[in-house]
Amino acid sequence: MTISEVLTKIKDTSARAVVENSLKLAKENEEYHALLSLTAERALKRADGVDSGKISGKLAGVPFVVKDNFLAFGAPTTAASKILENFNAPLQATAVEKLEAEGAICIGKANLDAFAHGGSTENSAFGPTSNAFDKTRVAGGSSGGSAVVTALGVVPFALGSDTGGSIRQPASFNGVVGVKTSYGAVSRYGVVAMASSTDVIGCFATNVSDAEFITEIITGRDKNDMTTLPDFFEVQANSKTNQKIGLVKDFMTNDVDPEVREKVNEYVEKLKSAGHSVEEVSLPMAEYALAIYYIIVPAELCSNLARYDGIRYGRRAEGVTTLAELYGKTRDQGFVTENKRRIMIGSYVLSSGFFDAYYLQAQKARTLLIDEFNKLFETYDILIGPTAPTPAFKLGENTAEPIKMYLNDIMTVPTSLAGLPAISVPAGKNQAGLPIGVQLMGPMKSDAKIFALAKSMENK
Ligand code: GLN
Repeated sequence: MTISEVLTKIKDTSARAVVENSLKLAKENEEYHALLSLTAERALKRADGVDSGKISGKLAGVPFVVKDNFLAFGAPTTAASKILENFNAPLQATAVEKLEAEGAICIGKANLDAFAHGGSTENSAFGPTSNAFDKTRVAGGSSGGSAVVTALGVVPFALGSDTGGSIRQPASFNGVVGVKTSYGAVSRYGVVAMASSTDVIGCFATNVSDAEFITEIITGRDKNDMTTLPDFFEVQANSKTNQKIGLVKDFMTNDVDPEVREKVNEYVEKLKSAGHSVEEVSLPMAEYALAIYYIIVPAELCSNLARYDGIRYGRRAEGVTTLAELYGKTRDQGFVTENKRRIMIGSYVLSSGFFDAYYLQAQKARTLLIDEFNKLFETYDILIGPTAPTPAFKLGENTAEPIKMYLNDIMTVPTSLAGLPAISVPAGKNQAGLPIGVQLMGPMKSDAKIFALAKSMENK
């Protein structure tokens, strides 16, 4: 259901009936393991508030789900980790507050790769989430749970975070719209930090207009997050005609699944029929994007994770006698293997002997990548390519080989490193019935423009 259909249903029945139905659907779909907790008590109370007129707004009574790395009331905020298993948020994330201020109702917290480290939701300390279209396949990640509840129709929209593709790739794997906003467009206050220079907040929805509507609500300057940009997001009713669109050929090589390429080409044809011009463009630095990302991101995340030491937050190891043992055991028990791998890589690339060779080099290469994007956007309005090189892979298929897993991020990390907005829209399914997503990427702060184009292409 779309948001407007849900609003109509609330009018015809009640917010309580709609929220109860969402909670029922969440229970019926438990086998997907998309949700780590339900916030039923608080949700029903807020639904009654809507029905009695105490709570109002553009989303009054509309249920939604947040990824469990957002601080929210009504259930613990675990980041799918053991270290925060019983952590109760003292405040709510700004994005959640903004939705609640419009009357939306959070019904539960979605599964993710622990601390958002991953691309399949298999790194959750509480077990993986299954794909909405094939239970033997991954949901994608790290916001896998948010994508799956949206795809299954449990809620009309969900929030996620995207550091290197974590909204776009699961959106693509589950046939929904997924939005990575411009860096700084949405406040990250109250969201568990992964990599501070690429983390962004965004949403999942079943259609472009709904995603745009939610983005409009959650964007904006926040005094609690000094990286937020002055308000810039303004919905465009109509898309510009005759746009110049660049098809990133580095994302369309023979290594990419043929059916994925086919769907992207079909979308390109539709763009052309709609009067836009599409040309192949090249982004040579994309080849280095993964190498850059997997140096800079571990460096930042290992710094961000240093606060989980067993003293200040969450779980503390029992039966220890020294401080070093307390830190060591707590962190050993509280983090999953992938968290530890990244903490080690991050500490290594930041260490005094290697800082210049890795971290500094990666930052320089990142600037070259950003320059390439800027150059392309002097000529092109929007870039297009696949969201991921394959449809959803099998559960367990890539878990033994981290590099293979990381390769799946190849098309999403370049825009993350450059801070650019990008959205994944459904582009049909392969022969096996698995969804495939197309990615539209734009220059900094072009979020509304990308939505306008995507809206104009929907159902074409
Ligand atoms: N899959 C990417 C990674 O593992 C992206 C994660 C994210 O965006 N949170 O880093």
